[in-house]
Amino acid sequence: MTSKSPAAAVRATVHGYPRQGQHRELKKAIEGYWKGRVTADALRDTAAELRRGNWRQLAEAGVHEVPTGDFSYYDHVLDTTVMVGAIPARHRAAVAADPSPSSRLRSSRGCPIDVYFAMARGTQEAAPLEMTKWFDTNYHYLVPELGPETVFTADSTKQVAELREALALGLTARPVLVGPVTYLLLSKPAPGVAADFDPLTLLDRLLPVYEEVLADLRAAGAAWVQLDEPALVQDRSPAVLNAAARAYRVLGTPADRPKLLVAAYFDRLGDALPVLAKAPVDGLALDFTGAAAANLGELAAVGGLPGKRLVAGVVNGRNVWINDFEKSLSTLGTLLGLADRVDVSSSCSLLHVPLDVTAERDIDPQIARWLAFARQKATEIVTLARGLERGTDTIAAELAANRAALASRAGSALTYDPAVRARAAAVTDADTRRSQPYAERAAAQRAQLRLPLLPTTTIGSFPQTTGLRTARADLRTGRIDSAAYEERIAAEIRDVIGFQEKAGIDVLVHGEPERNDMVQYFAERLAGYLATQHGWVQSYGTRYVRPPILAGDISRPEPMTARWTRYAQSLTDRPVKGMLTGPVTMLAWSFVRDDQSLGDTARQVALALRDEVNDLEAAGSSVIQVDEPALRETLPLRADGHAAYLAWATEAFRLTTAGVRPDTQIHTHMCYAEFGDILRAIDDLDADVISLEAARSHMQVAGELAGAGYPREVGPGVYDIHSPRVPSAQEVVALLRKGLEAIPAERLWVNPDCGLKTRGWPEVTTSLENLVAAAREIRAGL
Ligand code: GLN
Ligand code: ZN
Repeated sequence: MTSKSPAAAVRATVHGYPRQGQHRELKKAIEGYWKGRVTADALRDTAAELRRGNWRQLAEAGVHEVPTGDFSYYDHVLDTTVMVGAIPARHRAAVAADPSPSSRLRSSRGCPIDVYFAMARGTQEAAPLEMTKWFDTNYHYLVPELGPETVFTADSTKQVAELREALALGLTARPVLVGPVTYLLLSKPAPGVAADFDPLTLLDRLLPVYEEVLADLRAAGAAWVQLDEPALVQDRSPAVLNAAARAYRVLGTPADRPKLLVAAYFDRLGDALPVLAKAPVDGLALDFTGAAAANLGELAAVGGLPGKRLVAGVVNGRNVWINDFEKSLSTLGTLLGLADRVDVSSSCSLLHVPLDVTAERDIDPQIARWLAFARQKATEIVTLARGLERGTDTIAAELAANRAALASRAGSALTYDPAVRARAAAVTDADTRRSQPYAERAAAQRAQLRLPLLPTTTIGSFPQTTGLRTARADLRTGRIDSAAYEERIAAEIRDVIGFQEKAGIDVLVHGEPERNDMVQYFAERLAGYLATQHGWVQSYGTRYVRPPILAGDISRPEPMTARWTRYAQSLTDRPVKGMLTGPVTMLAWSFVRDDQSLGDTARQVALALRDEVNDLEAAGSSVIQVDEPALRETLPLRADGHAAYLAWATEAFRLTTAGVRPDTQIHTHMCYAEFGDILRAIDDLDADVISLEAARSHMQVAGELAGAGYPREVGPGVYDIHSPRVPSAQEVVALLRKGLEAIPAERLWVNPDCGLKTRGWPEVTTSLENLVAAAREIRAGL
């Protein structure tokens, strides 16, 4: 890297910041409000205090331009729905019917806060908006419902109020909005609207509303407004690209508008880059991290952004690792030649990372210096901006510290375990193949397991009762000792096994009472993973998760599950399924390393899990389930990345499971997914049995698998565990009949959609009894 000659003023900024506060004050205030314990005014004050705290934190770090409007009581896509007036009638009506005094708190002019929360959470009368993943992150947004009758009206109250708050602090502030094209592409047809309705057809109706909001923000003092268009980093048709061109031609036209910065992140812009580069907007914010680093070459290929501002996202907003300053400065140096003005930013909102590493007391300081959470990332951005503006010698100390921290990470025994490396390097194709083809294994398993037709089973967890959670908390605080805790777990397993025997279930589970979370439990037992105490990240609404950090080479110091599985098996003559989380899901729901490929990391995790699978078999398990609910969600955003991803993902699953005897039955489980585009990969897993979410889609997946010629056993879910509703035996019978149209009885299993951990015992008891009754009724008629 060369020391660049000083450039024009370079600003440091971010696209957004964690909303929750250091102690998740926002969660507490909102949940308190829902329970009637926190008043509307107190909630509003807490929210305003958190926003001010965030802006001060950013300003103190030296950030020149802070984002506004990124705060949310629940979700920024839902805020956009309010901003454009697309509130479904059912939610307005539900709250109008219940005029509680709390409706006084208005999130905005047209939307009382209770209507807002009704959209998010539903009411007795009105189902909530559907929730789905925000691109390939673990953040969930609320899906707007639109139709040909939708009338948009501008409501900029929230955006204007938050801008004014930041300006009142004397800060330079830039409102951040979800852009109109992304908003429509993320929407779906409202209930009752034809399924083939394309929300993008509403663009011309939506643009005047955005123009009005932009004018309001301008009047309130916004020099710049950011419009986020991450949907344009996915493969898009010429029609969508034309719509984007039209949108920004329209929004760019008015003379009295604020300057427009269009942001895209999570991948490269591809064909959308020339479209936005030519649009009459004033700047682009692009991601230059990970797969999106290809933006650099693509930007050069379109001749850069002459006359425009480029906000360069060189600090990764999705991982927890310190930046590589030299690499970023070299990228920034190249970018200086490609735009009129270059500013430095995070790749995306910092909403996806925890707030502050310095809050972590249990992470070894030698390792903590490899980590950067939101607060540290803001400081990195400021440092890079300074280096770019004034020359690298002005950040010599920071560069030296950065170089030393990166070197300590690369040379650490945590990140480089020769034994793990050697074992991973020695993996052969044969290690990833069962010793016999499926048909022969199936026969051996039938002989060994002697299950009835349409065998019944569950997905693994039974209700995580308050009793269990309290016992875990008591163990943590020392109120009970580990012997008392283990007796509590053993008692739960006895109950769960006893219940399943009595209910007549064929393949039992131990119920997972000892597991706090299906990823965290294993992360705590594998060498190479770190846990955080305060590393909360918003998953949706007031739900926050603390993903473990996959920091180093992965190995398994000792067996992780065999003991409780063996105990459960000792209580019954029926088979008890061993239960593990698969390698892809272990990566997807963690912060992964950025210093080796995902495939290499997955292989290490797979080898550790393979030992566990083999131990379970040796301990007497004849059925072992390896859950991969995240297989579909980790699929790269662009189709040209799918094949490589699916190759390493399916290989990791097979490496985990292929070491067992032919008569040991391997199950897998998936949920939260449209399976259509991974049917081939599901086959490549070579599992003997797969259970999938299917109750809500009326067994659609059974038909899809059959259509794709899937030859193995399938358990499409017949009990929707996302609702407390108890399905009747007749409903289950109907679903099974539907399943039998696609899958022959010899290959059909009967099971719920997913684990039962979020449900209560009374519903679970009746639901599973009905499920067994339904299976028996069908068997009797075969
Ligand atoms: N075995 C897990 C459970 O039952 C699976 C959970 C999941 O797929 N999300 O809880
Ligand atoms: Zn599931």
